[in-house]
Amino acid sequence: MNWTREKAIGHGSSATVYAATCQESGETIAVKSAEFHQSEFLQREAKLLSSMNSPYVIGYRGCEVTKEPLATYNLLMEYAPYGTLADVAAKNGGCIDEARVVSYTRQILLGLEYVHNLKGIAHCDVKGSNVLVGVNGEAKIADFGCAKRVEPELTEPVRGTPAFMAPEVARGERQGKESDIWALGCTVIEMVTGSPPWVGGDSTDPVSVLYRVGYMGESPELPSSLTEQAKDFLGKCLRRDAKERWTATQLLNHPFVTTKPNTEPESETDLVTNSPTSVTDQMFWRSVEEEEDQERPSWWECHEERIGVLSWIGQAVVDPTWDMDGEDWITVRRNND
Ligand code: ATP
Repeated sequence: MNWTREKAIGHGSSATVYAATCQESGETIAVKSAEFHQSEFLQREAKLLSSMNSPYVIGYRGCEVTKEPLATYNLLMEYAPYGTLADVAAKNGGCIDEARVVSYTRQILLGLEYVHNLKGIAHCDVKGSNVLVGVNGEAKIADFGCAKRVEPELTEPVRGTPAFMAPEVARGERQGKESDIWALGCTVIEMVTGSPPWVGGDSTDPVSVLYRVGYMGESPELPSSLTEQAKDFLGKCLRRDAKERWTATQLLNHPFVTTKPNTEPESETDLVTNSPTSVTDQMFWRSVEEEEDQERPSWWECHEERIGVLSWIGQAVVDPTWDMDGEDWITVRRNND
């Protein structure tokens, strides 16, 4: 693929991420680059991403080595125009409203279910700044730089971000799918409060946090603003014994993510909250001009999938049943032309 590097849109510990334009299609893509001799993690990430295909995992577009002045390894990905969940929270004054927390949580769970059950991979660094928001407003798991295959279980060193680490990870015992579920619970707290879990003591000191979670029997405090249903959901994610923690599939059936929340997303100017003309309106979610030439992913061609995604984004969190043969459909809006 021929592409032109544009501005830097993100910096991580191991790589820099740029926006880029694909010369043939004009599509905007994201290119994550690292000097070749320091690109071991990026190459692992590219290998894992290349094997995945889910609307809830950032899309793989290829990998390339370029000369630049120094040899550079580049991972080409789908571009997520709204940035990470942390960016979305920052734009909303620090946190995310309940209705959107529910739909993002469900989408992350769908991504984790795919990654865990179909791919046999543990992500190992689930957190708000590793979940991107795609062009249609859906959450997409990204940054597989710490990910690992769970079978056969190898004694690899633990990885990730201390504030999101489960007790067994903090103690260096094991890190698997269950640890991702703990991190998801921490991510929900992060979305609700606008900051990573752990308050009090020296919560900014990673060693102190690891000691508290690993050896002091502590768990992150649940925000008092949460509903009982949300607290129950978090209780299932944050069980200290990894064997008792619920799986992504079990959590997808929890009322927190299957019941429509009472509140609506907060502001009309927020991300993807304009009203659609119809549920199949492909142009509806496009609010940024430069994205207009973007290709739709292959799953987008399937109307049922599109409607499913739109229903989640629109917070209709009960699975719809679409009976196209009945007489009960009414015309809401007709184009007379
Ligand atoms: P970390 O230090 O967390 O390991 P990293 O070096 O692995 O970071 P990423 O977390 O993958 O890098 O990306 C860094 C930042 O770049 C993200 O926080 C996000 O803002 C931006 N970014 C990454 N991928 C994309 C993408 N596909 N579309 C848009 N922005 C992206």
